[in-house]
This record gives sequence, structure tokens and C-alpha cells, in this order.
Amino acid sequence: MRTLIKGGTVLSSTGAVAADVLVDGETIAAVTAPGVFTEAETVLDATGKYVLPGGIDAHTHMEMPFGGTFSADTFETGTRAAAFGGTTTIIDFAVQVKGTSLLSTLDKWHEKAEGDCAVDYGFHMIVSDVNDATLKEMESCVDAGVSSFKMFMAYPGVFYSTDGEILRAMRKATETGSTIMMHAENGIAIDQLVAQALAEGRGEPVQHGYTRPPELEGEATSRAITLAKVTGAPLYIVHLSAAQALAAVAGARDEGQNVFAETCPQYLYLSIEDLAKPGFEGAKYVASPPLREKSHQTDLWRGLRTNDLSVVSTDHCPFCFKDQKELGRGDFSKIPNGMPGVEHRMDLLHQGVVAGEISLARWVETCSTTPARMFGLYPRKGVIAPGSDADIVVYDPKAEQTISAATHHMAVDYSAYEGMRITGAVSTVLSRGRVVVDGGEYHGSAGHGRFLSRDLCQYLN
Ligand SMILES: [Zn+2]
Repeated sequence: MRTLIKGGTVLSSTGAVAADVLVDGETIAAVTAPGVFTEAETVLDATGKYVLPGGIDAHTHMEMPFGGTFSADTFETGTRAAAFGGTTTIIDFAVQVKGTSLLSTLDKWHEKAEGDCAVDYGFHMIVSDVNDATLKEMESCVDAGVSSFKMFMAYPGVFYSTDGEILRAMRKATETGSTIMMHAENGIAIDQLVAQALAEGRGEPVQHGYTRPPELEGEATSRAITLAKVTGAPLYIVHLSAAQALAAVAGARDEGQNVFAETCPQYLYLSIEDLAKPGFEGAKYVASPPLREKSHQTDLWRGLRTNDLSVVSTDHCPFCFKDQKELGRGDFSKIPNGMPGVEHRMDLLHQGVVAGEISLARWVETCSTTPARMFGLYPRKGVIAPGSDADIVVYDPKAEQTISAATHHMAVDYSAYEGMRITGAVSTVLSRGRVVVDGGEYHGSAGHGRFLSRDLCQYLN
């Protein structure tokens, strides 16, 4: 079964070229000058459109337990929404609960996802209980295709690890060649600011932002970088939101340290003004780190251009406004942390191209090629080349759309970008050669997506 995508402009992390793409079965068979092949069982006309490698969202939380509830998207609904938005691979997080093992955690997440996903998926492992047994298990995780481990300097009593525990895990990461991913916010200090705000009767959503100041993200980022330097471990800072944190990452990279960082669309487009919306509306925007003052956005776009920010992920962690976000009415510390976004990352970053913030090549690089290499999936994913999986997006750069909860496919009752006008839209999406989305219609199926056993990071010095 062959599919020919003809007449389009094929994008890569190095640029754009007029070319046809021939898909045979699940893989790309050829990328040729236009017109070399003319026959195939299916022919897709991509005239006037971009043909790019499927997006890779390296940071999602489907059906994740948090504060007595679960994020609203299942693996089924979340990966379907991802496909609609041109994302053909997600890397989600298995969450170790204190007192349990990493391998039993991994089994549990395999059970959740298997047979449910519309597109391919992998896992990172959240380590929240550092001990001899857990550290030993990190080796087995790497063998099982889970080559990255997330730790938290925030959320004391839940996911939080001490500097000593982080140091121990980093040593194991150095030994195994795996990557430590860090949620870098000083949770101990933040908890004091939260307690103080609540004691003073300041319970509204915007206080979530005020009690997690950017300085405490900058401080934790610097500390994580120092611990990584001492141990030689590669470090990947997740969801970087603050100029202070970016400066720390840029400094470490200038010195040649293996430090990488991602940011998320919400930090590029939204701000603490959204958190401060009247009534309880701001709860829709509660995520950690919090949305910042607008001035940080300029720094983050620059970081994307200079590669101090290498990846754009979503940290997709949707909670419905009704019944879930409402758990925190009157007490912002009880608002489930997280925002929906997996469906709109490719569009929002394309909007960055339209606005002149990043190039087309950089769009593809930050949203597909670099995440593939960062997390050991390249060249199977992240590039349109012979032999690669046929995860392909045909994208219409001239289409106009308006983001709305009324039309999105995520299982959440609001959009953080409600009413936002976007230039560009997905036309057709292929996952391993199969058309899963075409013209706004879903043609995929739960269980088409397969687990991806990942290699080590492909960027290490
Ligand atoms: Zn996250």
C-alpha cells in the first residue's frame, strides 16, 4: 500500500524544498524531485502546502492523578486530539508514588495506554522516591526504553526530592547515560509564600502566580545545573517560563555543559494577566510554573531562536473548569495544576513563524526534530527521510482558524486560547503511513499508536 504526497514543500530542521514524498506501508520510501513518481494507491495533493515531520510532544500528562482527581484526557482522547493538531508522537510521564517501585509503575502506565492511543507514544519516569532499590531500577527502565527521569524541586511531600536525592539520581543518570528532567522551582520557599498568602486571606487564583515568583524558578534552575555539573549528568529543564531560568541555562550551555531546556506555548502567549482575570476565571490558567509577566515572553522567543530553548512541549495536563478547577474556589492552592494544550502546539508555534519570531526550519526543529533526538527517537521520528516512520503532516499555511473549546477535541470544557485567531491549519495527518486525520475528519483508531522504546539522548557531548 503506497501513498504519494505530491506538489508540496517539504520542511526539515534545515529548511524547505519542493519535493514529493512516497510512503510504502508504515515508512517513507523516497523523497524525490517533484514528478519522479506519479502512481500510488493513494495520492495526496499537497500543492501550496507544507509537508513536515509529525510533531513530537515530549511532555504530556494523560489521565494523571493529581490532588485526588485525574487529568481529563485519557490516552485515547488525548492522543486523538494530538493527532488533530499534527502531533504524531507523545512522550507521557509514568508517575512513581512514594513506596512503590519504578517497574511496577511502568507496568501500570503500559496498562493505561496500551490499546488506547491514536498515535505512537513513549514514557518518561517520574522518580519521587529515591532509594537504593529505585536507583537500581533506573537501569532496568533504560533497558525498557524509558531513558529519561523527571524529578521535582517543587511540591514538598508529594513529588519533591532533596538536593541529596537529586544528586544520587544524577549519579545514576551519569552511569547509565540517561537524562534527568527537572521541574525547577524552589518548592520549600514557595510553600511558605503560599501559607502566608492563605493566612492573610488571599485565596484568589492570581495568588498562585504571586507565590511562585520567577526568582525561585531561576534559583532552582541554577541549583539543578550545579548539581548536574558536580555529577556530570545531562540535564533537561522542563517547562521553563522565566527569564531568570533562561539566563542560567544559557550560561551553562556557553560553558559547554549538557544542559537543555524546553518551554511551552502558554509561556509564549499567555501571562499573569490571564491568571488575574476576574472572579474564578483565572483558575483556567493555573499551572506550575505559573504564567509570568509579559516581558518574559520576549526572552523566551529569543531563547527559541538561539537554541538555549531547544524544545517546545505542552505540559498538557487538562482539568475541567467545572468540578475540577472548582476544587480550589477560595483557596488557590487546591486548584489542580495544569492546562490543556496538546492539540494546538503546532498551530501556536506556526503562528510564531507568521509573526516573524522563528523561522520555518526552527518551527520544525523545536517541535519535532529536536525532541526526537533529545529523547532517542531519531531518525525513526522527527524527519522526512527514506526509512523513517511515515509520520507526516500536510499543513496549509494560508488557512485561518479560531481556537475554541466548542471545536477542539480535547476532553476539557475550556480553551486557554479561546477566540484566538491562527493563520495555518492541519490538512492531513499520517501516523506510520495511515491517514488518521484528513480535512477535519478523524480516520484513526484507538490502539493504532504503539509504544516507542527509546534510546539515550542523541545530543550528549
Ligand atoms: Zn508536567
